[in-house]
Amino acid sequence: MNLRCSDCARSWPLDPSRYCCDCGGTLEIVGVPSFAPALLDERDHTLWRYRAALPLLPDLTPVTLGEGWTPLVAAEWDGQPLRLKAEYLNPTGSFKDRGAAMLVTALKAAGVREVVEDSSGNAGAALAAYTARGGLQATIYVPAHASPVKQAQIAAYGAEVVPVPGPRAEAARAVRQAVREGAVYASHVYSPFYPQGMKTIAFELWEQLSGRAPESVVTPVGHGGLLLGLYHGFTELLSAGLIERLPRLFGVQAQACAPLARAWERRAADVEPVEEGETIAEGVRIAAPPWGRAVLAAVRESGGAVLALQDGETLSAQRELARRGFYVEPTSALAVAALNHLRGRLGDMPVVVLTGSGFKSPPPTANWQQRVATFVRRHDLLHAPTAHALDLVSEVGEAAKEVLLATDYGRQAPQSRPQLADELGDALYSLLALAEACGVDADGALSAALEKYERRLVKQGGAGSK
Ligand SMILES: [Zn+2]
Repeated sequence: MNLRCSDCARSWPLDPSRYCCDCGGTLEIVGVPSFAPALLDERDHTLWRYRAALPLLPDLTPVTLGEGWTPLVAAEWDGQPLRLKAEYLNPTGSFKDRGAAMLVTALKAAGVREVVEDSSGNAGAALAAYTARGGLQATIYVPAHASPVKQAQIAAYGAEVVPVPGPRAEAARAVRQAVREGAVYASHVYSPFYPQGMKTIAFELWEQLSGRAPESVVTPVGHGGLLLGLYHGFTELLSAGLIERLPRLFGVQAQACAPLARAWERRAADVEPVEEGETIAEGVRIAAPPWGRAVLAAVRESGGAVLALQDGETLSAQRELARRGFYVEPTSALAVAALNHLRGRLGDMPVVVLTGSGFKSPPPTANWQQRVATFVRRHDLLHAPTAHALDLVSEVGEAAKEVLLATDYGRQAPQSRPQLADELGDALYSLLALAEACGVDADGALSAALEKYERRLVKQGGAGSK
């Protein structure tokens, strides 16, 4: 086994601390043993049951917290039978544990003692947990806007958390600087060991479906690590003659930051970076995914698609999932929300991957406060003329009224009119931003405004009187 550059084809020794070629190209591991059912360790109920198909020396002890072998739960969504792959039940609450367990195992075996990483949250938490388990020290560069809950989780494992202000890309720049100064980069984006851990999800699905591949898999996509892991795993099963065709792979992004979906719409072979907009789906807020070309090729080969959704649809799906007992973060709900857009293209019993736990996302009000602060800065509201502020208030009032009527005063999810929910979302942020700029309790102001509206409409005999 060794590493090979995907740009210049140069070979490198199998060193887990090397994350790219000297030419800057990305690396892959060549010579990994093929997947063979006879080599499965059936007594092991973690992803290490597949260790014979992983790039590890045979006598090596894995750094493990019991990751993988997550439940595959039968469910139904708007009349569509499906299966939910509960990746949020992994030890740190996300699918990233698969890659982190693999990478930290390899790093520890190579004698590495300290690593750095940049992450919007889940990958950082996974790396922090597995380095703690393996006795390594980690420093994680996190965008300052990342969920405070995730930052707290990373710190709890004993890793050093370095919040970096600005867009996600700033955290990436900060970690590159540390790497130039000699740190080992345990990157969930670039390390070729990470996708080796991710591919085990495909093996599991094959086993859980009694030796078959699903017809399609729907997953959120940011960097594309999970989607590429699925692709690699199913490709290995295909090469081994264990399945007849790849499942159709569908990747879902948030409209506010959707470089892959934009490239897909243009039928382009590669992505063009986009401006990093605000979205509640922070796990897929990646403006320039370095594996974009590979993700697009994998989706195309599988017969799938990439699409992007508004936050309103994601929020509705998250709420609806919780009502059915699945407590996941907004990024996970993206994949479920996409089902309404994929009718007729998924075949029997699609698999939807629930990637991260609901414990990871802060309550909506905390999320608002974060976004309000950004909104206030972006629009310079603290210095805006009063007339401008009054215009915004009036817009908010109109949008709020529309949404209240369409959703029967919040008693129904506005699934039939998702754009309305987005308008309300935008309007609410404006309102909250104004409240904060004026030094008013933002949540209180919002609740009071909505209550007042409802009372008035009920009095007029509107839709709220039932
Ligand atoms: Zn190269």
